[in-house]
Amino acid sequence: MNSSEITSQVTKEIENMWEEEVQFLQHIGRFPSTLGNEQALQHFLASYFSEELDLEVDQFTPEIKELSTHPGFSVPEWSYDGRSVVVASSPTAVEKTGRSLIFQSHVDVVSPEPLSLWSVDPWGSQRIDGKVYGRGLQDMKSGLAAMVFAYKAIRAAGYLPAADFYLQTVIEEECTGNGALAALERGWTADGALIPEPFGLKATRSQLGVLWMRVTVKGAGAHTERASEAVNAIEKLYVMIDALKQYETFINEKPKHPDFAHHDHPLNVNIGTIQGGDWPSNVPSAASLEVRIGFYPGEEPEDIKKEVESWLMEASQKDPWLSTTPPDITFFGFHAAGVSIDDQSPLFQTLDASHEKITSTSPGRNALTCTTDLRFFNLYYDIPATCYGPVGGNMHGPDEWVDLDSVKKVTKVYADFISSWCGLVPDKTKR
Ligand SMILES: [Zn+2]
Repeated sequence: MNSSEITSQVTKEIENMWEEEVQFLQHIGRFPSTLGNEQALQHFLASYFSEELDLEVDQFTPEIKELSTHPGFSVPEWSYDGRSVVVASSPTAVEKTGRSLIFQSHVDVVSPEPLSLWSVDPWGSQRIDGKVYGRGLQDMKSGLAAMVFAYKAIRAAGYLPAADFYLQTVIEEECTGNGALAALERGWTADGALIPEPFGLKATRSQLGVLWMRVTVKGAGAHTERASEAVNAIEKLYVMIDALKQYETFINEKPKHPDFAHHDHPLNVNIGTIQGGDWPSNVPSAASLEVRIGFYPGEEPEDIKKEVESWLMEASQKDPWLSTTPPDITFFGFHAAGVSIDDQSPLFQTLDASHEKITSTSPGRNALTCTTDLRFFNLYYDIPATCYGPVGGNMHGPDEWVDLDSVKKVTKVYADFISSWCGLVPDKTKR
């Protein structure tokens, strides 16, 4: 059987299993897998992989101490107890003639708050007019379902990859990336990797670096009747917010990285949380904010940390109170370098060919103004990798959704990509 006959056979299986795939997607969408709450979904996936797909499963908890010396490690402020990473290995052909491949998806999703802004249940996986709604349905349970069913269709058609093949589901993509790092450090590597992040049937050739930072300022608290003697920490936080907005302007006025030259405002400095005070009639004695800072590929996270820290210290010097009571600056969570990838490597060419074959459209590229787990593969393990996935909307916002047509399309593209990259051989173990 030639390769296009195999592709049409596998594509037919994807069509046959389509309703099952949608139900699988809806099912995993009902797990509220926010940070710290991923385990129920990971257990479900681990048993699905071993029982439904006949894969060998390695489910393990990241060892933070072991990872902490890695240059790509991000410092978490939370525990990894009862939080696992799942790596499932396909049975392989006796003779491995193809290139090995990792399909990797994160299972963690961001908070759906504020719930009042949703018009559907964020954990309801409601299917309306060719879309499924819910937190994480786009980012990235849709991609997860597609990678699972691409493989499942290959098996249903009676084939096995002719090389090592892995399905990985990881935690912590939305805050550190330590789940992806843990899998790689454990030795789960391959000749290529594909992450089905939902940025719309385009291969990612570049992504920004991201840092998280916390700035705490002290005030001099008092009852409001003596407010004139006090220093209001929340008001002093304004000095820091102004400085951060000026820093954002400054970095966006610098020459742009060529991958982001088309973008008006690639580098966002986002004030994500703010905390301070506990009583309307008290002058708050402390206040803090948490910020996310973007930076270009090729820039070192450590250099950016120094730059923003001295920027804020300089701004503090101009303020009578902060010059003597400087802010406390800490970095936590994302310590993620950016990455720019060779998009003409065999991995991209193979994916481009599969995309063209299935969609009859030319392949596209994107440069992400955020980070994904992609960086680990390319930067630290020399594994060519990219993101390519379904289309959706309202990612990280209320009424997040994914377009089901696009899920079906990428499932077919993945199956063809596996077939070209790994090669397929008849599954002799098939009963
Ligand atoms: Zn994602």
